[in-house]
Amino acid sequence: MSDVTLLGAETLRQAPKVLLHDHLDGGLRPATVVELAESTGYAGLPTTDADALGRWFREAADSGSLVSYLETFAHTCGVMQTEDALVRVAAEAVEDLAADGVAYAEVRYAPELFVERGLSLDAVIEAVQEGFAEGTRRVAAAGGRIVVRTLLCAMRQHARSLEIAELAVRYRDAGVAGFDIAGPEDGFPPTRNLDAFEYLRQNNAHFTIHAGEAFGLPSIWEAIQHCGAERLGHGVRIVEDIKTDSAGTVHLGRLASYVRDRRIPLEICPTSNVQTGTVPSLAEHPIGLLARLHFRVTVNTDNRLMSGCSMTSEFAALTATFGFGLEDLRWFTINAMKSAFLDFDSRLALINDVIKPGYAALA
Ligand SMILES: [Zn+2]
Repeated sequence: MSDVTLLGAETLRQAPKVLLHDHLDGGLRPATVVELAESTGYAGLPTTDADALGRWFREAADSGSLVSYLETFAHTCGVMQTEDALVRVAAEAVEDLAADGVAYAEVRYAPELFVERGLSLDAVIEAVQEGFAEGTRRVAAAGGRIVVRTLLCAMRQHARSLEIAELAVRYRDAGVAGFDIAGPEDGFPPTRNLDAFEYLRQNNAHFTIHAGEAFGLPSIWEAIQHCGAERLGHGVRIVEDIKTDSAGTVHLGRLASYVRDRRIPLEICPTSNVQTGTVPSLAEHPIGLLARLHFRVTVNTDNRLMSGCSMTSEFAALTATFGFGLEDLRWFTINAMKSAFLDFDSRLALINDVIKPGYAALA
């Protein structure tokens, strides 16, 4: 942890990064929101000035009000109701992630949020895949390299999770790597979707579950032990099962031990956690403790637009706050690559051909 002073923004940007938890509807460019609102006839943006809109998104998400936070997604989803809009948003997401130094990303979204104007779920998925392919082509044409896969989310408050899980399996050879449930955690426990998870397991399909963000240990426990989640979306509240005694010795409860022993990946999204009030400040974020205890910690953006963040800015904030150095960032990155819902050979190739040489070149 000694080389923190050497890690400039450009070094952090160039460092290969792996992103497992990023929402497509949380990562639009402000200018694109403005242009799509215009071209699709979406009225209701708080402003049509792109810079002011970018600021509005961050402030609304920061305000501590759930109503304002949800309003931000009403606007992004509102402009993503046509195939052209979905293609554009997906292609730009790939370009933005590549420019951020991301070597591999799993980008997630809930298809059921984009059918307001009559698109079928299949049409939504095919448009997003077309956009990811187009973005990947543009990055390659510019001399870059990125691999992007999709996670399909079902919304916890709706009752379509089995249907979405079936789509995740149907499109698994077309770039869809897995499944997730998103939306309000408190009041909508993961066990409401057991049929979807059972279907996925029977089809040897991968899934993660948003758990341990807005709700605590019971949500994490259900996600792992009842549903069979391979990863935890956030999972940060596993810290509630970790106690430090007066002598400074750390004690793990049964659930925390299980999560660590089984190397269950935590998709940690530091800035997002502060914004939603899951943790009071970055300095008080348990990522430092979890990393020190060698949980399978990964670093993620969650919603790049609402949080005004990128993988580079998350790495910068973590190095500044916790003194992490390149060796730690490499560890987060390899943790994430090991935890990806990508086939083993491809994961290994990315670790050996991209991540390790990329960090070696920066050292
Ligand atoms: Zn999320």
